[in-house]
Amino acid sequence: MQCNVPAVAAPPVGSYPVNEIFESLQGEASFAGTPSVFVRLQGCPVGCPWCDTKHTWHMGPEREISVSAMGKKTELPCDSYSWCDVSTLANIVRAADAEHVVITGGEPCMYDLRPLIAKLEAWHHRVQVETSGTYVPLVTPTTFVTVSPKYEMPGGRPVLEEALARANEITCPIGKRREIGVVLEQLDPLHQSNGTPIWLQPLSASSRATAICIQAARRYGWRVSLQMNRFINIR
Ligand code: SF4
Repeated sequence: MQCNVPAVAAPPVGSYPVNEIFESLQGEASFAGTPSVFVRLQGCPVGCPWCDTKHTWHMGPEREISVSAMGKKTELPCDSYSWCDVSTLANIVRAADAEHVVITGGEPCMYDLRPLIAKLEAWHHRVQVETSGTYVPLVTPTTFVTVSPKYEMPGGRPVLEEALARANEITCPIGKRREIGVVLEQLDPLHQSNGTPIWLQPLSASSRATAICIQAARRYGWRVSLQMNRFINIR
């Protein structure tokens, strides 16, 4: 298979490439309905074909903009990003209303997130990180880690046991019945041994996928997560 997944540039030390920062409600899983500040980092080499944030995949000087320009983006989605140091980034987050911070991407676990999260937690934010499970999450002990495992994607990165073991919850988009078998085989042992909740997410909220998820959740003790943002028409 031809792979056009991007190589990712090494970051300046102590900085993060930020695509956007915005406030909304967390729409999925354990924190559904929670007012949140979303910090979307740039860069992802995983290459999921259905990815809805492909604009975050690529990096390079031609896409770099100032922090102020990043904060004023009006055309979204947009593939530009700004390198932000910890203080700058934490101060932008602090200016928002929400206590809950979601660091997402892209693949945020490409970066050592500990300095940023430590600063935010010192300011009494609760931090959630959303990751594909293909990197070891470098986060603080109190970070809430959501792993949505991406198996056998074009980027060729394996899902890491260490990432799954760190998960506070696991989310799995489901479109077809046979995908339940993967969840059962690869992820249910973790649910059985650690009690890590497994959330099934019906793809496109279709009635067929939703029925498959509900049936599996009842049978195996998992949960169903509908993307509430779709229903109330917010991002
Ligand atoms: S891991 Fe996430 S950001 Fe990366 S390609 Fe897959 S869905 Fe997109």
